[in-house]
Amino acid sequence: MTRRVEIIGGGPAGLYAARLLRLKDPRIDVVVHERTEGSAQTFGFGVGLTESTMRNLEAADPETAELLRHASYAGHSLELRGRADTVTLHGARNLAIGRAKLLDILGEAAAAVGVRIRTGVPADAASVDAEAVIAADGVRSATREKYAAEFGVRAKPGRSRFVWCGAAFAVDSAFFSAAARGDSLFVAHAYPYATDRSTFLIEVDDTTWRSSGLGELDARVPPGETDHASVALLERAFAAELHGGPLLTNRTRWSRFTDLTLDRWSTGNIVLLGDAAHTAHYTLGSGTKLALEDAIALADALTGESSVPAAFAAYERTRRPPVERFKKLAHRSQAWWDSYRLRAPWPAEQLAVSYMTRSGNLTLADFATEQPESVRRALARLGGPVPERPEEFDAWVLSRPVREPGLTLPGRMVSRQELDAAATVQELSWTDPEVWDTAADAALTRLNGTGGTPILVTGPSDRDAVAARVDMAERLRMQGGRPVGVALPEGERSPAATAVAAGRADFVVHP
Ligand SMILES: Cc1cc2nc3c(=O)[nH]c(=O)nc-3n(C[C@H](O)[C@H](O)[C@H](O)COP(=O)(O)OP(=O)(O)OC[C@H]3O[C@@H](n4cnc5c(N)ncnc54)[C@H](O)[C@@H]3O)c2cc1C
Repeated sequence: MTRRVEIIGGGPAGLYAARLLRLKDPRIDVVVHERTEGSAQTFGFGVGLTESTMRNLEAADPETAELLRHASYAGHSLELRGRADTVTLHGARNLAIGRAKLLDILGEAAAAVGVRIRTGVPADAASVDAEAVIAADGVRSATREKYAAEFGVRAKPGRSRFVWCGAAFAVDSAFFSAAARGDSLFVAHAYPYATDRSTFLIEVDDTTWRSSGLGELDARVPPGETDHASVALLERAFAAELHGGPLLTNRTRWSRFTDLTLDRWSTGNIVLLGDAAHTAHYTLGSGTKLALEDAIALADALTGESSVPAAFAAYERTRRPPVERFKKLAHRSQAWWDSYRLRAPWPAEQLAVSYMTRSGNLTLADFATEQPESVRRALARLGGPVPERPEEFDAWVLSRPVREPGLTLPGRMVSRQELDAAATVQELSWTDPEVWDTAADAALTRLNGTGGTPILVTGPSDRDAVAARVDMAERLRMQGGRPVGVALPEGERSPAATAVAAGRADFVVHP
C-alpha cells in the first residue's frame, strides 16, 4: 500500500489527483509542489469542458464536480463565420471555465481533504522523497526531459502558431472567425467562460507569420514577456469581434503546439500525468479533460493495486487507449485548422460540414440529424433537389453523378471496374497520417506533374489507414485541380457519403 505520494505541479492534473488520493484513502500523505504562487500566476484564460467529461468527474467526486459546474459558463452555441456568411452550430452545449477559477476550486478541494500544497518553489523529481512521485508538471515537464530516454519521448512541433488571449466581455456565442489582410489570415477561436470574460485564441500559418512580420515582432520581446506589438496587430484585425476593445494578455507569446507521444509513462517510482505524459491539439478542447481523467485512473490504481509498479502499469493500461483515441481525433482536427486557408473561401454551410466531420468522430448523417437545414443547403452544391428527410442524404449524395473534366460517372460510389471503364486514373497508395509533411508535398508535386487524369488514393482497410487516405485525398483535391477518389472498404456507405459531402473526395471506389 502506498503511504506517501509527492506531486510535482499544481495544475488541474496534479491537484485533482491529490484530492482523489486523499478522498479514497485518507491514510496517504499527499504533498503537491507548485512552482508559481498559485492560480493568480497561471497561464491562459478559459478552457472548455464537455458534458461527457463532467459525467466522469461527477462519478469520481460529485462534490468537486458540482463546484466546477456551478463556476462554469454554460449553454453557448457556436458560430462558424465564413468569408461571406455565418452558420450557427447548435448543440455546442459545452461548459467553459477560467483556468484560474478551475485551479482555485481544485486547490481548495485538495486542501479540504488534507493535501499539503507548497507553492512558490520548483520541485525536482530526483530530490522529492516518496514511494510514488507524480510528475504533473505540464507540457514543458522538466521531469519528462530529465528522463527522456527512459520515457521514450517523441515530440513534433505543429505547423501553425497560436496566441492565447482573452477579452473582458462574454461573446454572445462561441465563434470561429478569420480575418484576412492581404496574404495574411488570422483565425480566431473565441468562447465565453464567465459573464465578463472570453477566450480569444488566434492562430496563424507560416505565410501569415512572414507576411505580417510577426517573426520580427516576436524576436524583439524578451522571454516571459507579452508580445504587445503582435497583440496590437491582432486587436486591429479583430476590431469588430472585440467591439473595438483590447485583448487581455497574460505573458502572451506565439507558440507552436507540440505533439508529445511517449513509449512509457513511468520509470522507477516516477509517473507522468496529464500534459507531461501526452498532448492533444487544443482545437479538440480536450487537454484538461484528459488530464483530469488521467488523475481519476491514477488515484484508482494507486489505492487499488498492491504495489506502486502494479499501480503505474494499471494506470497506463487504462488510460492509453482513450488517450490514443483522442490524440488521433485531435491530430485530424489540427491538420484541418493548419490547412484552413485553403477552405477559407468556402460558403459557411459547406465549411460547417467539413468542420463537423474533420476528426472522423461524426458522420454526415450524425450532423444532418442535428442540423438538417444547414446540411441541405451545403449539399445543394452537388446539384439537383436535396431530399427533405436527413436519413435520405447519404443515398442522395452517393447517387449524384460526377461530371468533371476527364471523368464522368453515374454516381459517387463505383466499383474499380466501373472506374477503369470510365477513365484512366493515377493511383496513389497512401497510409501516412501526416498529409501536410514533406512526403505528402512530394507526392502532390509528383502527381501534379502527371497531367489532369483523375487520382485514386488507395491503401489498407484498417481505420487509421482509411482516415489517412481520406485526408490525403482532400489535400490532393484542394491543391490538384482534378477529380480525386478514395478507395474505401466494402459497405462503408456512411463514410463514403461523408467524404463526398465534406469535399474530401469527388468519388469513392469500393472493392
Ligand atoms: C491555447 C490552449 C487552449 C486550451 N484549451 C483547452 C480547452 O478548451 N479544454 C481543455 O480541456 N484543455 C485545453 N487546453 C489544454 C490544457 O490547458 C492542458 O491540457 C491542461 O492544462 C493540462 O493540465 P496539467 O495539469 O497536465 O498541466 P498544466 O496545466 O500545465 O499544469 C502544470 C503545472 O505544473 C507546474 N510546474 C511545472 N514545473 C514545475 C516544477 N518543477 N515544480 C513545481 N511545479 C511545476 C506549473 O506551474 C503548472 O501549474 C488548452 C491549451 C492551450 C495551450
